[in-house]
Amino acid sequence: MDVNKLLAKLHADLPSENTGIVASYIPELAHAQRDKFGVHAVTIDQREFSFGDYEEGFSIQSIAKVLSLTMAYQRENKDLWKRVGVEPSGTPFNSLIQLEQDMGIPRNPMNNSGALVICDILLDYLADPKKDLLAFVQSLTGDETIYFNERVAASERETSDRNRALIEFMRSFGNIRNGTERLLDFYCSLCSIEMNCRQLSRTFLFLANDGVSLSGERIVSISMTKRLNAIMQLCGLYDEAGEFAFRVGLPGKSGVGGGIVALLPRDYCVAVWSPPLNKKGNSHFGMAFLEGFTSQVGESIF
Ligand code: GLU
Repeated sequence: MDVNKLLAKLHADLPSENTGIVASYIPELAHAQRDKFGVHAVTIDQREFSFGDYEEGFSIQSIAKVLSLTMAYQRENKDLWKRVGVEPSGTPFNSLIQLEQDMGIPRNPMNNSGALVICDILLDYLADPKKDLLAFVQSLTGDETIYFNERVAASERETSDRNRALIEFMRSFGNIRNGTERLLDFYCSLCSIEMNCRQLSRTFLFLANDGVSLSGERIVSISMTKRLNAIMQLCGLYDEAGEFAFRVGLPGKSGVGGGIVALLPRDYCVAVWSPPLNKKGNSHFGMAFLEGFTSQVGESIF
């Protein structure tokens, strides 16, 4: 199969009009050009395929939550699950609604409350949290050009009332230990990581490769890899995780910058980027493209 040709054809098959809307609740994200589209796939034996704007950087936003989760999991192992659950939420990414019933324990580490708890845990471990986080992310591929977009981080910090509310609410249940501003600053930096599709698919390759990164380093055990992929499958696309499993059939994670990364264990990782989002906050064309991709290739985890 000529995969590059397939990627181009799948793009050509997308509807002519994109009904999605570019995220603007973080003002800096609104600058993304709505007609950008990129895709890049890398196999565990390091064959690479791409199409479109795959070398153009974008804000990976919530996709980065998988990377902070990996760091916390490395340090806490199964103790981690005392402070955050592994159940799909069925609620929007920034929802407060279940937290009261669940006594301040977020349903999963992929929604904002869960990711904030993960950041709180990391603040207790890391000597220089932002520097150590970026160093970890860069080490997955050996790519030192990956960076925090300071403008995006500042823009999110200024519009973080909802995340501030989540932090204080969880603090009232004893599930947050660090100061609010310090925690928010770390969380907003995490979400501001910028990558292009090529960097993103290569970064996530360790989850397709039994826990071993592109640089050949063991990041997590095979068992932990299974669990991280399970969390992505069940919780990675907000309250559209079921739809993504149904249509695409791969563990994946989306972000409000319009990126989606997905992987077939022991085979490949693919990253797609198209800024306009559907009503659930997932890339409208990204979802459609990946559905076409797994349908044409004829493989998924199911
Ligand atoms: N930084 C974003 C927020 O907290 C992440 C949202 C996302 O990509 O889902 O609102």
